[in-house]
Amino acid sequence: MTAQMGVTDTVVGEDLHAHQFRMLIDGELVTGASDHDVINPATEDTIGSSPVAGTDQVVLAVSAAKRAFAHWSRTPVEDRAAALQVLADAVESRADEFARIITLEQGKPLALARGDVDSAVAFTRYFAGLRPEPEVVRDDETARIEIHRKPLGIVAAILPWNFPFFQAMYKIAPALLMGNTLVVKPAPTTPLNTMLLGEMVEEILPPGVLNIVGDDGAVGPVLTSHPDIAKVSFTGSTAVGKAVMRSGADTLKRITLELGGNDAAVVLDDADVEKVADGLYNWAYFNAGQVCINIKRIFAPDSLYDALCNALAERVRATKVGNGLDPDTQMGPLQNAKQFEAAKAYLRTAKETGRILAGGNILDGPGYFVEPTLVADIEDDNPLIAEETFGPVRTILRYHTLDEVIARVNDTHYGLGNSVWSSDTSRAAEVANRLESGTTWVNQHFALSPDVPFGGRKQSGLGVEFGVDGLHAFSDTHVINISKV
Ligand code: NAD
Repeated sequence: MTAQMGVTDTVVGEDLHAHQFRMLIDGELVTGASDHDVINPATEDTIGSSPVAGTDQVVLAVSAAKRAFAHWSRTPVEDRAAALQVLADAVESRADEFARIITLEQGKPLALARGDVDSAVAFTRYFAGLRPEPEVVRDDETARIEIHRKPLGIVAAILPWNFPFFQAMYKIAPALLMGNTLVVKPAPTTPLNTMLLGEMVEEILPPGVLNIVGDDGAVGPVLTSHPDIAKVSFTGSTAVGKAVMRSGADTLKRITLELGGNDAAVVLDDADVEKVADGLYNWAYFNAGQVCINIKRIFAPDSLYDALCNALAERVRATKVGNGLDPDTQMGPLQNAKQFEAAKAYLRTAKETGRILAGGNILDGPGYFVEPTLVADIEDDNPLIAEETFGPVRTILRYHTLDEVIARVNDTHYGLGNSVWSSDTSRAAEVANRLESGTTWVNQHFALSPDVPFGGRKQSGLGVEFGVDGLHAFSDTHVINISKV
């Protein structure tokens, strides 16, 4: 494998139109059956073109992954880990290039896009450092019983558009370390960063180990229904997550689903308002509110309600919204026209049913720009609270007692993340323990780490990603039970 560990030096220039982005199938960079335009959400201009796989190309990618599995699964784990380290180095050496492409197609500020690339590298290195060692569960005079972890086969990784590169890498790295092969499908609106990754992988991994196919909306179901796909690792909406699960039922595919969330932040009555307002603001509006684990509902006690409304509104009003390439920009546009329309509908609801404390408008075009918005005085059954608002429209709600607020936070079919904010961390941890979510943070939110499992309860997901548990999710257990009698 070492001989293949070179890295392409074809740098993508300023003009993405001038670069032919291609898919990676069986170690070859190939054009698609068709192409589709990629739009910059800050300008609504076409910035480049992405290949779109025909069904026959998706089938070829799966066949290539199947052939490659035969040797990749038997390649020593040290070699697989070494390849991941080379991949991490290669991405790191072109981090600014990746970041610029992410900003152009996703919209987020360049510094945040660079943060996504840095996180992708860090998570890849973390997984490269893990070893799926056999576990001895019993070794006595009667038997030795070992649990071994076996790769599943071909993994389909289906990606959304909010952290497209980071999400690709944190699925690819554990799947490959465990000995699986992959077919990766980016979201139709943010494919170019993943296609660039394919250009590097071509020279780092053996043919067929990692395949990348472009999509205009029809490719996902081809993958999730393909009998040779052993596992689907999906991040996206709850509705599509359910469709993925149904589609995989016939062949009992392993499935990890990271879905939507309706995270709450509960501020306790001993909190320092100015201190917590910074954290609440950051994690409510991060990535223009397009994060599954953004804070979407902010619960304030009677005693702090007015002060917190003022502190948050002040921060929301001060947000600099603009093109992600402008270094002063704190919040970019919404990623695509569909999200923009959804945000406009939420703004109408906010105006008709609530009191807008800050924001409330879209910005003059071009671009899918929405002012960060804070809404007060609405009931819990309002769509702004009952639904997941995947955009920068957030609500602040008043509560009277702890039992009441805990019941209200838990009264949702989502269960991804929550947080509790207080000057007394023990008291906050007690409240945190009563909230129904995969993760509950205290005095922080959205703190993800490669070694800590992350996943949703209820309809926010199935299974976990990250950590040793996340690695094991790309394996089946194989028990070896040796009799000693
Ligand atoms: P989406 O579910 O429509 O799309 C996600 C991915 O699935 C895309 O690649 C899409 O092409 C693909 N897809 C669509 N239909 C498919 C099908 N029938 N079979 C297989 N694949 C299919 O989501 P979206 O509108 O792109 O993103 C917004 C939603 O995603 C929000 O609800 C948000 O909460 C959720 N999301 C969740 C997380 C998380 O980590 N839990 C992260 C990002 C986004």
